[in-house]
Amino acid sequence: MQEVSRRLSEIRALIPQGVKLVAVSKFHPVEAVREAYDAGQRLFGESRADELAAKAPAMPADVRWHFIGHVQSNKLRRIIAHAHIIQSVDSERLLRLIDAEAARIDREIDVLLQVHVAAEETKTGMTPHELLDVARRCAPALTHTRIKGIMGMATNTDDRERIEADFRTIAATGAELAGIIEGADTVSMGMSSDWPMAVSLGANMIRIGTDIFGMRQY
Ligand SMILES: *Cc1c(COP(=O)(O)O)cnc(C)c1O
Repeated sequence: MQEVSRRLSEIRALIPQGVKLVAVSKFHPVEAVREAYDAGQRLFGESRADELAAKAPAMPADVRWHFIGHVQSNKLRRIIAHAHIIQSVDSERLLRLIDAEAARIDREIDVLLQVHVAAEETKTGMTPHELLDVARRCAPALTHTRIKGIMGMATNTDDRERIEADFRTIAATGAELAGIIEGADTVSMGMSSDWPMAVSLGANMIRIGTDIFGMRQY
């Protein structure tokens, strides 16, 4: 299990200053999360409400949990009870639901708006145009939700040019978003397979699972 801290320090040595690392611990046991924590990691990413709800109470209170999976509205309460930031806000409806639920329990929550640029239909998120439109229309009315930036994924392909084009679109949309909402300057893009390119194209937050924790057992 020393493996986790070794991999973490290897990655940290390569990441430029100012880029935040979210360790994606989904499908990995709490022991692995604990090893990363002991190696100094504080930001963790989970993609399922039930798993988040099981792990969060088992970890120290200074962990910041990033929810990165698709949000089902019937699981929203559970997610908001534990997550500090929801990175995967993929519709106006969800944004409004989050704000209402955060208001109900009187808690402030940060979110990223998820943009869809990848070729796969299965990936979720708003088109760049839709995302900026939602930000413009909804932001003034939010009372308990802070839009902090954008999250996106590149197409899952070996075609480097396609990946590069996807990251450029995500970063450009993020820059526009930051012009609309003060402080919405987080650009969360890049995973195990493609994060160095994402960082070179403007990511200031990367989400890495496999390269830290090894392969997931589904
Ligand atoms: C699983 C996941 C990651 C991490 O992927 P790896 O390839 O294991 O680094 C990053 N972002 C999102 C949204 C994910 O669902």
